[in-house]
Amino acid sequence: MEAVRRTVIENCAIATVDAEDTEHASGYLVLAGRRIESLGGGRAPEGLENVVHRIDATGHLATPGLVNTHHHFYQWLTRGLATDRNLFDWLVALYPAWARLDEPMVHAAARGSLAMMARGGVTTAADHHYVFPRGSGDLSGALVHAARDLGVRFTLARGSMDRGEKDGGLPPDFAVETIEDALAATEETVRQHHDTSFDAMTRVAVAPCSPFSVSTELMRRSAELARGLGVRLHTHGSETVEEEKFCHERFGMGPTDYFESTGWLGEDVWMAHCVHLDDSDIAALARTGTGVAHCPSSNARLAAGIARVPDLLAAGVPVGLGVDGTASNESGELHTELRNALLVARLGPHRETALTVRRALRLGTHGGARVLGREAEIGSLEPGKLADLVLWRMDTLAHASIADPVAALVLGAPAPVTASFVNGRRIVEDGRLRTADEDEIARTTRAQARRLAEITARG
Ligand SMILES: [Zn+2]
Repeated sequence: MEAVRRTVIENCAIATVDAEDTEHASGYLVLAGRRIESLGGGRAPEGLENVVHRIDATGHLATPGLVNTHHHFYQWLTRGLATDRNLFDWLVALYPAWARLDEPMVHAAARGSLAMMARGGVTTAADHHYVFPRGSGDLSGALVHAARDLGVRFTLARGSMDRGEKDGGLPPDFAVETIEDALAATEETVRQHHDTSFDAMTRVAVAPCSPFSVSTELMRRSAELARGLGVRLHTHGSETVEEEKFCHERFGMGPTDYFESTGWLGEDVWMAHCVHLDDSDIAALARTGTGVAHCPSSNARLAAGIARVPDLLAAGVPVGLGVDGTASNESGELHTELRNALLVARLGPHRETALTVRRALRLGTHGGARVLGREAEIGSLEPGKLADLVLWRMDTLAHASIADPVAALVLGAPAPVTASFVNGRRIVEDGRLRTADEDEIARTTRAQARRLAEITARG
């Protein structure tokens, strides 16, 4: 049997984000194959065998890799449009373009979204893809292959919409699926791509889009399908006041009660946004163990509101961070969401006690892993867990005068990523992807964005 190959990283500050928030001012990590073998303060143990890489990480902070819990990769091609609209008006403006997506566009957009996140410290990303226009090709396959090629751990939330314009929904009718088609295609995606192994690079979740673009029957049957297949459930929930109004008018109850009535609260569910919650909604999420993907930049960009993250955390609700689609968060980065989550929370009623810098880092790492159901494998730096971690450079002009490296990471300018590992494989080196050519991705995404704009303009 081939001996396991080791990478030794030394002389860096370490924020483990374990249950005790253990930190080391100067410490080491030993990666063995795909896992973390050991870590601690001081120098690495002597006499380790088969060390193939030794990294002197002086001036760096090591953290778990960031976990993105909500995104729409395809939106990389429609950034910077409808910049002054609320959610519903923005959707109406953008659906005509999204309805014309095809496989080469989605593949290019996924590579752009993943590359941007990876070079900023994301090691695991979830993508909620719910636009499957007729005849558009194998969009799920395009997403899975893009993540695999770039080396980013991936959860594909296979979405769906069946409430088109003729049924009082927002998307054009040719961009929605029938209930039977959506369920069959979702089941096939799980069978093709869902990997249950500990170090899986691809998992699949069942993810109808939202209460206002999906029928009650599709919501119910999606939940049944997911539970029958043993996969997680994801959707958008309680994002705006308009959605709340829609639910009251259409269903005679608020979004959280509607989700409960359709089987959409539970430990296997995570929901994007959850901005408009009252105390009883928060209690319902806590009681059922339902997770939340908090997207502070997108919520601000679309004027959705401020999510009650401090109250969710106090109630014990699992909370992770999300970029959300890049049509409502053009930066496409997750490390800036650590800062934005903290700043936005402090504008709410809890003021300066709303979120600490360490709590913000926890949201972006361990919290995200919990929300995606991968807490046992990733999300903190601990022996036996997968070697998904980031070395942030803290000795340049931007951060060198800040003594606390976690404060520097969360509050300071976006820190350069010297190295990022997934399953022990280095995917970023000195701020650049090792797994793909960023310039090629930039050219391809620009070309596909133009193609989409031209096809949309032709109508
Ligand atoms: Zn979203």
